[in-house]
Amino acid sequence: MHYDNDTKRQCGRRLVSVPSGKAYRLSSPAANAMVTHELADELGRALERFAIEAGFDERRPVSVFFRPGIFGHHQLGRAADIYAVGGVGIDQWKRRWDEACGRAARFAPGPARQIVTKTEPVTNLGWRLYKTLQRYGRWSQPYGYPIQLFGPWTRSEGPWKQISDRLLRAHRDHIHVAK
Ligand SMILES: [Zn+2]
Repeated sequence: MHYDNDTKRQCGRRLVSVPSGKAYRLSSPAANAMVTHELADELGRALERFAIEAGFDERRPVSVFFRPGIFGHHQLGRAADIYAVGGVGIDQWKRRWDEACGRAARFAPGPARQIVTKTEPVTNLGWRLYKTLQRYGRWSQPYGYPIQLFGPWTRSEGPWKQISDRLLRAHRDHIHVAK
């Protein structure tokens, strides 16, 4: 522990907690997402944008829940894992998304299908959060590696559609970002 703290000081990497914003609030303990200033800023910007675009505000903020990670970028505070948004687990949002896709597929193209395909991307906060992080977040891409944004939607939405089964399984219940 002592060694770790020294190392972090030497590298100028004092860790901070991901901040709560105006339209979103962290519902997890601060210790669950201790990250570098750079990652805290990037996440703060992206989360606020997601929350405002999804219709939340200061009087009615959306909750975001982090859990600590262990491996790789997490050891330096350069990664964070989001497990729930709006009080619902990312895995549950993904299940809901898959069910909506299944429902849509049973309808012929037309109004009935459109109700599903137009509603779900608006109301599914898990998918929406993932897409906002993908569109507006500037995440790290170490040389020879994919962009460091992984979650249950990575294979269908990208950015790294070739994600392995193993890595996809490891991210079926959370969204991982690194910077
Ligand atoms: Zn992670």
